[in-house]
Amino acid sequence: EPIVQVRNIYKDYNKTEVLKGISFDIFKGEIVSIIGSSGSGKSTLIRCINGLEKIKNGEIIVDKKVVGDSRSVIGKVGMVFQDFNLFPHYTVLENIVNPCKVIRKMNTDEAKELAMSLLKKVKLEDKINEYPKNLSGGQQQRVAIARALSMEPEVILFDEPTSSLDPELAYEVFNTMKSLAKEGFTMVIVTHQINMVTNFSNRVIFLENGKISFDGSPKELMETD
Ligand code: ADP
Ligand code: ADP
Repeated sequence: EPIVQVRNIYKDYNKTEVLKGISFDIFKGEIVSIIGSSGSGKSTLIRCINGLEKIKNGEIIVDKKVVGDSRSVIGKVGMVFQDFNLFPHYTVLENIVNPCKVIRKMNTDEAKELAMSLLKKVKLEDKINEYPKNLSGGQQQRVAIARALSMEPEVILFDEPTSSLDPELAYEVFNTMKSLAKEGFTMVIVTHQINMVTNFSNRVIFLENGKISFDGSPKELMETD
């Protein structure tokens, strides 16, 4: 049983079709990289999966529920954005604790315990009382990853997670993502960085002009070219 089922979806913006009949399934533990040139629809595709964009036709099912039909999908799909999207007026700890209280209805102690364990996982336990602006971009992105994990999602979507980072900071974030991959998380990563693909993903989806032109292993991709 797949965690995510994308079934023949179509999406347009002001009558311009951006996704033109996309279908694929994602199974537990898969690390899927979505690549393709700028404007090919990568970002739109993952925004449709987490319900940020409404599709015109087709169906997306996450954990047996249709995205858009049910609020119960919220929390099942974690999202990590290019520009981190942290709350600037919350400390690192509060960035995780507050959503846990509001969305998961945890009490303060439970939320703090979970947040601390996740901040340890991303190696930021010494930054819990800092505000985001005092952290490097790589550290901020690791907070965003910890926050996504705090919802205990079935799948985590990453939209160009390292594009706004200098190479050495991008490397830290890659390493964090790689360790999540080893732990068995299911991840979908939109990326320009082809090295990410060969490094730790086990499947590549190539988007061209709103359609899938390749779906297979990194090895098969190399052999195709
Ligand atoms: P990618 O992530 O592959 O660069 P996007 O999904 O961001 O591609 O964009 C696909 C196409 O849709 C582009 O032509 C882009 O300009 C257009 N697009 C994306 N978001 C919007 C929007 N909110 N309104 C109108 N057009 C959009
Ligand atoms: P990405 O490739 O990561 O989607 P973009 O720079 O293409 O980044 O898009 C950034 C934001 O602008 C997104 O929210 C996207 O939906 C929106 N956007 C992109 N293209 C257009 C467009 N042609 N018209 C309106 N909004 C757009």
